[in-house]
Amino acid sequence: MDMPAVTRCTAESCAYNQAQTCHALAITIGDPQHAQCDTFYSAPVAGGDPSAVGHVGACKMSECQHNVNLECQAPEIQVGAQADIVECLTYQPA
Ligand code: SF4
Repeated sequence: MDMPAVTRCTAESCAYNQAQTCHALAITIGDPQHAQCDTFYSAPVAGGDPSAVGHVGACKMSECQHNVNLECQAPEIQVGAQADIVECLTYQPA
C-alpha cells in the first residue's frame, strides 16, 4: 500500500502547513465520527519536514469509499477548513 499525498491543505494556522501545503510526514484522519484531520495542531512553531509533502498515514473513516482496512487508498487527498474543523475534503461516504 502506498500512502496518498495531501496535495493541498488550506488550514494555514496549522503548524505543519506552509503556503497551503502539508509538511507532516504522515497525518491521521478521522475521530472517527467526522473526517477531521487529527494531526492539525495550532502552535507557534513550524512542524514537519519543509522538503516533504504530507501523506495519509492512517484513516479511521472506515465507511469512506477510499478506505481499505483503515488505510486511505485514494490517489491523493485534499484537506481544508470547513466551519470550525479541519477535515478531509476527499471523503466519500459509501
Ligand atoms: S479520502 Fe476517505 S479514506 Fe482517504 S483520508 Fe479522506 S476520509 Fe480517509
